[in-house]
Amino acid sequence: MRSLALHAARPKVLLADGSALTASLIVGADGVRSTIRQELFGTVAGRGHAMLADASWRFMAPNPGLDCWTVWAGADGMVLLMPVDEHEVYGWAAITRPRAKNLSRASLIELAKQFPDRVREAVAQGMARPGGLYHSPLEEVRLDRWHDKRVVLIGDAAHATAPVWAEGAALGMEDAIVLGRLLAEGADMPSALAAFEAQRRSRVGHVQAQTDAMSRAAKLPSGLRNLLLPFVGPKKYRQTYGPLMQPV
Ligand SMILES: Cc1cc2nc3c(=O)[nH]c(=O)nc-3n(C[C@H](O)[C@H](O)[C@H](O)COP(=O)(O)OP(=O)(O)OC[C@H]3O[C@@H](n4cnc5c(N)ncnc54)[C@H](O)[C@@H]3O)c2cc1C
Repeated sequence: MRSLALHAARPKVLLADGSALTASLIVGADGVRSTIRQELFGTVAGRGHAMLADASWRFMAPNPGLDCWTVWAGADGMVLLMPVDEHEVYGWAAITRPRAKNLSRASLIELAKQFPDRVREAVAQGMARPGGLYHSPLEEVRLDRWHDKRVVLIGDAAHATAPVWAEGAALGMEDAIVLGRLLAEGADMPSALAAFEAQRRSRVGHVQAQTDAMSRAAKLPSGLRNLLLPFVGPKKYRQTYGPLMQPV
């Protein structure tokens, strides 16, 4: 998409190939760097958008013997390994020391050296797979509004949140379900979009608040953090996921 004309009755999208589309509603589901959000609110690098960690990667690797979600946190960053099955783990690594700009593979190897053998091994194996390392910066979007006239943002375009609780994909899919349901009920468009925001704000806000709380805990001095997290972690886990067990 190249640009958006926000006419009240029929918004128009100009595509990269020069063609144009008009529709009764434009749904911006174009992710954390949303062009539609930029066209709508002009906040792509503004108040609603924050880079939390640029030096961050995702990868898959052979399972080094884990049976549950496990994170190792150090002074310079963290590595999370989550078993997909007994053979594979999904991994995420981030260098979180302030203003880390070094995106090189060497900096990731250095980070992994701070952790036990099986973490080092998983990172090395993930990196060894051709194209196996996916650079994946941590960015957040917080907006006062998700819609204007006949354009609405959903998913990361509206509310990308640091993946502390691994809820981003679910929130995006829930947005689509709720929006689809409201539109099918046949209310006029302004009412449907207002109802969409009203219904989704509390659930998204809950995930954002729990994300902020856990992020603050992760930034405590390492001694204190290591002492507290085994107690605070399970409690926060229940506080976060308990309300999310309610269907949308
Ligand atoms: C390091 C990391 C780890 C994460 N781990 C998890 C996890 O474990 N669990 C979880 O649920 N979530 C996780 N997330 C978050 C999750 O990836 C996102 O919340 C989710 O992908 C958002 O879905 P989306 O459809 O809104 O956006 P996206 O998945 O970003 O999809 C947007 C789509 O729009 C397309 N697009 C963008 N611009 C244009 C354009 N101009 N024209 C046409 N197409 C365009 C893109 O190519 C893309 O296909 C993680 C995020 C990060 C950064």
